[in-house]
Amino acid sequence: MSSNRDNELWKEAAVVEEKSSRFLKANGGRRKAPFYKIMQGMPIAVDAFRYGTIPGVTAYFLTHAHSDHYTNLSSTWESGPIYCSQGTANLIIHMLSVDCKWVHPLPMDVPTVIPNTNGVQVTLIEANHCPGSSLFFFEGLQTVDAGDSCAKSPFIGSSKIFRYLHCGDFRASPRHVLHPAVKGKLIDHVYLDTTYLDPKYTFPPQPLVISACAEFAHKMVKHKEVDIHPLVVVGTYSIGKERIFALLLTVPLLVAIARALKTKIYCDARKAAILRCQEDPELNALLTSKPMDSIVHLVPLGMITSDGLKTYLDRFKGSYTKIIGFRPTGWTFSQTAGADQLPSVSCTLARTQQKNFTCADLRPSGKPTSTLQIIPVPYSEHSSFYELTCFAMSFDWVKMIATVNVGSQTSRGKMARWFSKWEAERKKRDATTVVPHRHPDYW
Ligand SMILES: [Zn+2]
Repeated sequence: MSSNRDNELWKEAAVVEEKSSRFLKANGGRRKAPFYKIMQGMPIAVDAFRYGTIPGVTAYFLTHAHSDHYTNLSSTWESGPIYCSQGTANLIIHMLSVDCKWVHPLPMDVPTVIPNTNGVQVTLIEANHCPGSSLFFFEGLQTVDAGDSCAKSPFIGSSKIFRYLHCGDFRASPRHVLHPAVKGKLIDHVYLDTTYLDPKYTFPPQPLVISACAEFAHKMVKHKEVDIHPLVVVGTYSIGKERIFALLLTVPLLVAIARALKTKIYCDARKAAILRCQEDPELNALLTSKPMDSIVHLVPLGMITSDGLKTYLDRFKGSYTKIIGFRPTGWTFSQTAGADQLPSVSCTLARTQQKNFTCADLRPSGKPTSTLQIIPVPYSEHSSFYELTCFAMSFDWVKMIATVNVGSQTSRGKMARWFSKWEAERKKRDATTVVPHRHPDYW
């Protein structure tokens, strides 16, 4: 597709968003879906529920159960079948009361033909974002111009097989490019979670952060003095209407700490019901409804303050004498002086492997006392700039399409520059070689 054509598509998408009220009237109360919500030439929409019944779409996909991705999905949904992972399916039925006749959970990792799409196959790949989240790898012919865009695909009816990788929200890892569905294939479109596509977003891999926290908790519990009985609490977003599923983000951290301490996880019944939607046998076996059965508790994020933790500890007077609170925080982006704003791809790749994170990098906030400690945990459920670069350099693709921060032309322009940088660099290298990684879970 020419870049002129791309510009037209983005312009059209921007107009649709900006002038939505006028369009709503002209369109019978329905917002028009921007082009990047529809898989080109296929009757398939991804994370596009806010646009209601989209012309020509016969299959609605949901990458994961975060509110900005399922907007408008409710008990009144009747625009067509919804495809997602089993964990996400359970959540939207349990929390949003979507009628289960519409919900079609698909297996992970197994190519499955989607009904009424002229034979398009989809493979779900774990996204490494929140429990139940998945990437969609679509493979099939272009057979129909579905959606609201005026642009027509020149490939409708051709015999060329198209491959699209929709990343939803994800934290890129070597596992994604080593996946048998993806490995060695030329991908036509990559719909990319560009949340942190900027070199200022540098942070170490999540598995390292998680194991550092588990080790920290383990050390504290193991080396405790006589008569000190520590309680570990992990903060999670409170269950508000918008952040209903945000609590899922802390699940890997919670499980790692519970595993290290060989204890169960206590949380209230409402949170437990959401966690059980994942049908994860290990997680289910760890959950307990009795606070005294576990030294790891899941509590609202707002409770992880000195006062909050004091009050919480008081509730267990006589049982616990010390409390550590892990407080997941976003990344604070302190730009190091002289940091390269426009690093070359090879420089970016070389730097990636230096991003380490150990127990010693966890610094208590405020003044730790003999009975209370708060540990901020740098936590990101989206790929760092470095991870995005490693990802893009590790397989063969024709075109990247940003799905986040696409609202302004300046931001789109910045992202497009990185895409061209990647493309130019890939031409120099063997496009099918995976960037060397330290572990299958991170570069
Ligand atoms: Zn998300």
